[in-house]
Amino acid sequence: MKYLITFLIFLFFQSTNIFAQDYLFPTSASNKLTSTFGEFRPGHFHAGLDIKTFGKEGFPVFAIEDGFVWKIRVSPFGYGKAIYLKLNDGKFVVYAHLQKFSPEIEEFVYQKQQKTKKYRVVQEFSSEKFPVKKGDVIAFTGKTGIGHPHLHFEIRDKFNVPMNPLKFYSNIEDTKPPLIQKFVVESQNFESQVNGNFLAQEIPFTSNGKFYSLKDTLEISGSVGLAVEISDVANGVTNSYAPYKVQLFVDSLLTFEVRYDEIPFETTRQVELDRNYRFLRTHKDKMNNLFLKEGNELRNYKLSPNSDGTVGIKNGEGIHDFEIKTQDYFGNTSILKGVFRVKELNQIGIFSAEEKNFPTEQVFSFGGKDYAFLTDWNLKNFKISTNGNIRELTNALESQNDLEASSLILVEKDKTIYEKSFGENSEQFDFEIQFHENFGVLETKFTEVSKSFPEIWINGIPRPAFKISERIFQTSFSFDFLNEDFLRIEINGKEIIERVQKITKDKEKKTFSEDQKIQVDFGRTSLYQDIFVTVKEGNLQVPNTETLGKSYEVRPYEIPLKGAASIKMFYPSETLDSDKLGIFYLENNGKWYFLEGENNSEKAYFETKVLSLEKFVLAYDRELPQILNVYPKNSAKGNFDKIKFRVKDEISGIKDEESVSLTVNDEIVVFEFDPETDEILYKPRQNFKKGKNKFSIEVVDKVGNKQSFKSIFWVN
Ligand SMILES: [Zn+2]
Repeated sequence: MKYLITFLIFLFFQSTNIFAQDYLFPTSASNKLTSTFGEFRPGHFHAGLDIKTFGKEGFPVFAIEDGFVWKIRVSPFGYGKAIYLKLNDGKFVVYAHLQKFSPEIEEFVYQKQQKTKKYRVVQEFSSEKFPVKKGDVIAFTGKTGIGHPHLHFEIRDKFNVPMNPLKFYSNIEDTKPPLIQKFVVESQNFESQVNGNFLAQEIPFTSNGKFYSLKDTLEISGSVGLAVEISDVANGVTNSYAPYKVQLFVDSLLTFEVRYDEIPFETTRQVELDRNYRFLRTHKDKMNNLFLKEGNELRNYKLSPNSDGTVGIKNGEGIHDFEIKTQDYFGNTSILKGVFRVKELNQIGIFSAEEKNFPTEQVFSFGGKDYAFLTDWNLKNFKISTNGNIRELTNALESQNDLEASSLILVEKDKTIYEKSFGENSEQFDFEIQFHENFGVLETKFTEVSKSFPEIWINGIPRPAFKISERIFQTSFSFDFLNEDFLRIEINGKEIIERVQKITKDKEKKTFSEDQKIQVDFGRTSLYQDIFVTVKEGNLQVPNTETLGKSYEVRPYEIPLKGAASIKMFYPSETLDSDKLGIFYLENNGKWYFLEGENNSEKAYFETKVLSLEKFVLAYDRELPQILNVYPKNSAKGNFDKIKFRVKDEISGIKDEESVSLTVNDEIVVFEFDPETDEILYKPRQNFKKGKNKFSIEVVDKVGNKQSFKSIFWVN
């Protein structure tokens, strides 16, 4: 690399880490970070460090050790301009979002772009083409691809597995402990509760410097998983980072540990299992799970024997101490301490016999099982005359009621299976089902304060209701209660039928909406675990365009997909302009986004692949894309050295630079495209010819609507 300038490196930037190879820091821009290794990114872990360039571009980027340029990539998206070195010790180094490469690599890229007439370049090199020496300037920092100006920097081992680059550097100043922001406890099955609630609970705590403690004893039944939101901080910057290490100790024993040293690309999608996907989808929180989710193959954990990190009944009934300890790479530590009490899931919210002073407790046998009544009326002469199901039994019991009784509780061994109050019941209610991996939680919300508990049946089985507040009751159920893909819920005699289909991992299966207008196909690699899917029809519309038919909500969106599922939406075969149709989904921010896919006009459907379950609609994009802010203006005269414009499409959007073509003086030219601003810049190496120049622009949106523009300008 003979044209490269070797920089004198200030000792300030030099690593003095005694554990590591003596790698050079990759840039002189700064030794401050905006992101660390292992942070959450949508669908993957952050594979390196982001080094701050304070909004500026053009700082030199150095070869950190001797080696050669192994690969370069140029793209308007992702890493933008990126350079990959292979070091003599076998490791790989990646530098991304570069403004430009060293002059001879820039020349190589230019020639290649002229030959292919494409902006994108991916090129591998042999070791002889561009060898580098430690300290050579191989590129300059920039903001190409996605994000603000910064240097994205990765070190990968000889198998191309990204490693935590902090292992090699000690020039970053960090004496501040991580901050614990949020603590959540989540039920793992239908027999688990946190503080009397089946749904995940955010637990308050107090802090005193780097020590945090829970205000109250946690009440736990069954099995629960803990999750924490941590933002690490460093000296002299306001950025917040993900932690390097998080540990959970129960009764002083290490139960769970996660540490971000290495993350192979094959498993990087499992960031959705490592972090809490439910809180990510519902609150945009990036919380670390302190337990293992099914399907998690990451090797970043340490667990106590036979443990998955969940706590609760396995720790035994009674009081337990726990401690969550989190560290950054420099050993700064914060600790959250608390106490939890494990107890059997029982009549929290259901009044017990003792409380009501019920006089009678009678045990009897029915259908081969022992039951007991807890009631305040006399059942001495009661005879069970039915042989049918529990429903018939409770009907028979209720018919014995002399109307003076206030309640009836039916107990199977120690478990309440049926509870009926004869007080006034608020008639008006709303309900919601929360989906978990293997269970559901039905929340019944009365419009007025309910004096008694609702009577809940799920697929013919009576289920206790738990009082959460004056108006809200919860009932949990295992999806094993499902029969034939239907969930039949009865709330105070009102029947609600939900189609819920079990999708088994490793098997192909289709599910439909009731009107069969949407089909969801799960493949062998779509799922981490079995899930239960519902498709609900709605009336959502994409604004500013025409929506065709209904909207469809495919749940559970709180559970991550391992791989793609296919969504097919059918339209009537006689539909006009069907080639202008596409599937859109609703994002958390309230906006609808077009999903690229294929329109099969013969079979009258649009198909797309998704990596998450969402709300979907079929809608038209009949509008042409726009070409804006064209420079130079038509017929302008001057000393122009570039052509600039912006492309915009409100409905389906512009896919990428290949959707735009620019012809200058009858020749197709290669331009830069910034997908964040949709700006296009063409700056020729040679000046435009003197006198009249002409250019034309063509742009297509994602459904193929085409706009064109022609213009001339004069160069003095
Ligand atoms: Zn980055």
